[in-house]
Amino acid sequence: MQKIPFLTLEQVKEIVKTYPTPWHIYDEKGIRENAKRLNEAFSWNKGFKEYFAVKATPNPFIMNILKEYGCGVDCSSMVELEMSDACGFSGKDIMFSSNETPIEEFKFANDLGAIINLDDITHIKYVEEVCGKLPKTMCARYNPGGVFTMSNGIMDNPGDAKYGMTPDQLIEAFKIMQSKGVKHFGIHAFLASNTVTNEYYPKLARELFEFAVRIKNETAINVEFINLSGGIGIPYTPDSEPNDIFEISNGVKKAYEEVLEANAIMDVAIFTELGRYMLAPYGALITEAIHEKNIYKHYIGVDACASNLMRPAMYGAYHHLTVLGKENEKASEVYDVVGSLCENNDKFAIDRKLPKIEKGDYIYIHDTGAHGFAMGYNYNGKLRSAELLLQEDGSVKMIRRAETDKDYFATFDFCNIMDKYLK
Ligand SMILES: *Cc1c(COP(=O)(O)O)cnc(C)c1O
Repeated sequence: MQKIPFLTLEQVKEIVKTYPTPWHIYDEKGIRENAKRLNEAFSWNKGFKEYFAVKATPNPFIMNILKEYGCGVDCSSMVELEMSDACGFSGKDIMFSSNETPIEEFKFANDLGAIINLDDITHIKYVEEVCGKLPKTMCARYNPGGVFTMSNGIMDNPGDAKYGMTPDQLIEAFKIMQSKGVKHFGIHAFLASNTVTNEYYPKLARELFEFAVRIKNETAINVEFINLSGGIGIPYTPDSEPNDIFEISNGVKKAYEEVLEANAIMDVAIFTELGRYMLAPYGALITEAIHEKNIYKHYIGVDACASNLMRPAMYGAYHHLTVLGKENEKASEVYDVVGSLCENNDKFAIDRKLPKIEKGDYIYIHDTGAHGFAMGYNYNGKLRSAELLLQEDGSVKMIRRAETDKDYFATFDFCNIMDKYLK
């Protein structure tokens, strides 16, 4: 499918008058339409709820938009819990799915009334210790081990993943929790990431539903919610087909009827914890071409770098690039498009066919709305960019300012060494 930017060159030229590049920008209209579509697709399930994975795009303005669609939040750390609390999420609207959890975070999650999703059987005692007693509602993370494969060849390797409990441990954990007064139970699993197929959720759901039947048989516990977690992918490359959320939901519904309802397990709520699917296509990183260099390869140097978007450096991930204003020009050149870090993996594109780029051209890096800004860091003294929101009326609102050197130096405020730059 052709990748079409949600911004034009004219818009970017206007925005840079106020906000110099690089910046991340989010498309409010796209975010809203997608959230609405997800709810529609799962409307057959009475208790359906999306818990937005905050780690994907931890910005209160974004979280508040999703809140309007009934979304909760999935948090994995103290800071994410604090951000969610500040945005007005509370109680069962917060899922706390963390691993190797500092025990004070269990306490804070419990104080907020969040649903704690336990990663390991040994954590029962920590929760009990810091919370006084176990909360009435608990969730546990399931890891079936082995290899998870789908018919199109996509696979992932739960047996090699640090998350969750073995099925036997999870059942044991539920028995212990039950004996300690827990009344409401849920299960959760995340078995494959960025799945560009309509098959993942239905297959995962069927496996979790079958496990819920086993739980019922062995413990008499009726699992009340099943959390399919994240993992629905998006088409980063122009040749991949987007997922169809309605087809995905229908696949889950079929498994729900065939496994849960057929075993008289009724009214189970389906939860999701999507991050990438909710935001990735509705964000872009805009950067200016500032240098051109020809040595053994042909380089375009841009003013963004891997500290603004780490996925290419970290996973070799593909992000599509559009040279704004040259959407219809022939891709006559082959470039490496690179940032300024002193790391040779700081490349947004390698051997990419693109139209001829001039200094001053703006490059639109697609699909950076999730795990983009969020994975930013300060290596090489690089500062995090601003985040902007393209509102439905076409106006632009800053939803996070760019970092300054003062932010970078703020952690030296206990001494006077950096005062010259902190004042
Ligand atoms: C990262 C994560 C998610 C979101 O994953 P996406 O691939 O962005 O959908 C959801 N749940 C948990 C526990 C996660 O760690």
